[in-house]
Amino acid sequence: MSELKHATIDVAVRARWIWTGQGEPLRDGVIQVENNRITGVSPWNDFQGNGDQIRDLGDCCLLPGFINAHTHLEFSDLTTPIAAGKNFAEWILRVIQHRMFSANLTGVPAEQAAQERHRRGAQEAIRCGTALALNVVHGTSPRGVAGLFEVPFAELMDTTDLRCQQTWRSARSMMRECLRSAGQDENLMANLGIGLSPHAPYTTTGRLVRQTVERCRRFHLPIMMHLAETREEIEWIENGSGPLQEMLEMMVGPVGNSTADRLPLHGYVDTIVQAPKTLLIHGNYLDHDSIQTLARHRKTAVVVFCPRTHQHFRHAAYPLERMLEQGVRVLLGTDSRASNPDLSIWDEARKVAQEFTSIRPEQILRMITADAAEFLGLERSFGFLRPNAPAIINAVPCSSVSADTVLEEIFHSQTKPVRL
Ligand SMILES: [Zn+2]
Repeated sequence: MSELKHATIDVAVRARWIWTGQGEPLRDGVIQVENNRITGVSPWNDFQGNGDQIRDLGDCCLLPGFINAHTHLEFSDLTTPIAAGKNFAEWILRVIQHRMFSANLTGVPAEQAAQERHRRGAQEAIRCGTALALNVVHGTSPRGVAGLFEVPFAELMDTTDLRCQQTWRSARSMMRECLRSAGQDENLMANLGIGLSPHAPYTTTGRLVRQTVERCRRFHLPIMMHLAETREEIEWIENGSGPLQEMLEMMVGPVGNSTADRLPLHGYVDTIVQAPKTLLIHGNYLDHDSIQTLARHRKTAVVVFCPRTHQHFRHAAYPLERMLEQGVRVLLGTDSRASNPDLSIWDEARKVAQEFTSIRPEQILRMITADAAEFLGLERSFGFLRPNAPAIINAVPCSSVSADTVLEEIFHSQTKPVRL
C-alpha cells in the first residue's frame, strides 16, 4: 500500500493546493495523517503539529484517491487492447477466445492464473491513483490486493434461459466467495458489499434481468449492466437481427436463443432502475425516453461513461452534455484492458476535460471522486479528503497562482498523479 500506510509516525503533508472533493482548492494547505487515517485538513497557517513529521511537497495539488466505477480486472494481462474488428460481435468473440486461451495456455492452474491477472490489474489501478474500483467478476472471485478497495459485481450470462438454475448457482458461489474474501481481509472489501451484473441484453434473457433486479431489491445489492453500447446491440434489441444475433446462433444454435425474451431499450432501463442502486454502463446510444428515466432516478441510478473505450470503438459522439443537462448523473470507468490501453481512471477524466470543454473541471473531477462516493453511499471513506477517511491521497504537480485555474491546469498537465 502507500508509503503513508507503513509510516510508523504520524505525518503531515503540506502542498501548494489541496482539493478536498468539493469547492475551491485550498491554498497552502496541510493534511494530517495518523494511523493511516486523515485527522485534519487545514490551511498551513493554522497547523499546530510537530515540525519533524512534515512532508512539504511544494508545487502540487493534493486530491482524493480516485474511484473507477467500471472495470474488469480479469483482462489485465493484455498489453494492448483487442482490435475492434469489423463489428462488435467479432470483438466479443475475440474476448471470449482470449478468456479461454489465457485460462488454458499459461501452464498454471486456471484459478491461479485468474488471481494473477486480477493482482496485476489491481496493482496497476493503485499506481494510477485508484482508491476504489467497481470490478466485474467472472467465474472466479478474486482475492483482494492491499491498497485497492473493491466492490465486486458477479457477472451473470444466460443466452438461452435454459440454464437459469446453473447461472444462479454459480452467482451464489461467486457471491459467497467474495463475501468470504471480504470477511478475511479487513483492508479490502469489508463493508463495501457486492453487486450483481447481468452482462448485456444479448448475453442475458429478459427473465434473467428481471430476476436479478428482484434479488437486488431483496438483498439491497447494486446492479451493473452494459447497455446501449453499440449500434449492433440496438439493432439486436429492435429487430433481433444483425452480427450479434449471428454470433448467438453460432454459439448456442437457432433454437433457444434469447431473441424471444428481449425487451425494448427503455424496457431494460425501466427494469434495472428498480434496483436499489443502478450502474448503467456506457449508454453510448441511449434514446430520449431512457435518458429521461435515468434523470428521474438520478438519486439511485448513474450512467458510467468509459471515454477511451468509446474511442477504441469509434462510436458516435457521446451525449455527455445532453445527459448532464437533462439531470442524468454520470460517473467514469476505464472498462478493461480488452478495450483500453491502461487502467488509469485519471486519464479517462483528462480525456473528458480535453473533449468536453464546456464541462467545468470540478464537475469532471467529482465524477471520479465525490460524486461516485456519494452515489455509492461511501462518502465517509472515499471521494473526499476529510477527517476519518483512509489516507489515500494523490499528488499532481501544479504551480497555479489562482484557485480558479488549479483544476484546469492539472487536467492539462502531462504529469501523472502520484499516490502518496
Ligand atoms: Zn465493461
